[in-house]
Amino acid sequence: MLVSELRCLRCGHEEAPSSRAYLCPRCEDRNPRDPGILDVRYDYDKVAEEVARGGGWLQSRHDIFRFLPLLPVEAPGPVLPSGGTPLFAAPRLARRLGLRALYLKDETRNPTRCLKDRATAVGLTRALQQERKTVYCASAGNAAISLAGFSAHAGLECHAYVPRAASPERLQWLERYGARTHISSGNYDQAFAESEEAGREGGWYSRNCAYNPFLVEGKKTAALEVAEGLGWRAPDLLVAPVGDGCTLAAQGKAFRELALLGLVESRPRLVGVQSAGVQPMVRMLQEWEGSDPSGVLSGDPPEAGTGGDATGAAGTAAASMDVKTPRNARRLLAELRDVNGQVLAVEDDRMEEARSVLAREAGVVAELTSAAALAGLEDFLHADGGGRDRTAVVLVTGGRES
Ligand SMILES: [Zn+2]
Repeated sequence: MLVSELRCLRCGHEEAPSSRAYLCPRCEDRNPRDPGILDVRYDYDKVAEEVARGGGWLQSRHDIFRFLPLLPVEAPGPVLPSGGTPLFAAPRLARRLGLRALYLKDETRNPTRCLKDRATAVGLTRALQQERKTVYCASAGNAAISLAGFSAHAGLECHAYVPRAASPERLQWLERYGARTHISSGNYDQAFAESEEAGREGGWYSRNCAYNPFLVEGKKTAALEVAEGLGWRAPDLLVAPVGDGCTLAAQGKAFRELALLGLVESRPRLVGVQSAGVQPMVRMLQEWEGSDPSGVLSGDPPEAGTGGDATGAAGTAAASMDVKTPRNARRLLAELRDVNGQVLAVEDDRMEEARSVLAREAGVVAELTSAAALAGLEDFLHADGGGRDRTAVVLVTGGRES
């Protein structure tokens, strides 16, 4: 494993790669908006050596473990195969948006039909290596379903903490996989707090992506595959929905690392999409704008504006984006700032429309959260000079219909 250290994104404290701390032990005042999330760092000279040797990327693997030198695991784990999803051109959508080219990264083709499987694969690999028997997470659906599926395959006990508003269909998926489901009386943020408390008490392994620093590393592999699929070139734009901020931040990190290794010459502008009903990251980015000319984020992030109903009633029908306290805001904001990225918000009815367009003009059935990315891309292009001469990749993060 080529991990050199875990570095706190907030205070810079460094933990050894063997540390079992999920959060920075120095940042004890647990500000839920900025809890001291650790970032996995690698010995990039060694990674470069591995890759240069030709066998660096595991040619025999077609799942996430193909990119082993940039993953925080010793060896591929005995887990459900995730990643290796198709990246394909969607010419009708490109014409509609006026883009030179538009590619879809179809994450619905993962074992439990969403991108979260990439993170689960890394998390479960580490949990199994540590001989853990019980795992947990809080989730509006997809992450829990992913964890439940992978746990079923690996024979681990899985505790899923879901918000009150979780759809019956998603609860049924958890049931199918045999997970122990805990339905919170509140929203995602409350389910998250309940899961963390239970996890601490039980000594269980956490699959909360905002906290467990290793999970983002799994999500990174989507962008690594995008780069490889485009012949080790970056698209001009990479678009994804934003909840906690982990997924888009992970894509930014992947391209940053590839640039550091000299494997790509440029990096994509990251475009994050939230719902008009719940858009804390949009506001945080605006408030942080210009606050730190050195490019190093300092101080606490601004208070997250919910834009929706702060009492917890869902401000959007897109379940995975109904996150009022994005815990990985600092990570995402740093990645966005680095590439002149942006986060914008779209109304739910635009997401519905985009979902229909994705199905009718690209043959992909996506969930509302994923369709939001397409609607957001359209708005971004409208405000940013159009799409001519631009190539965009949209991450279709999940395919559950409700
Ligand atoms: Zn810290």
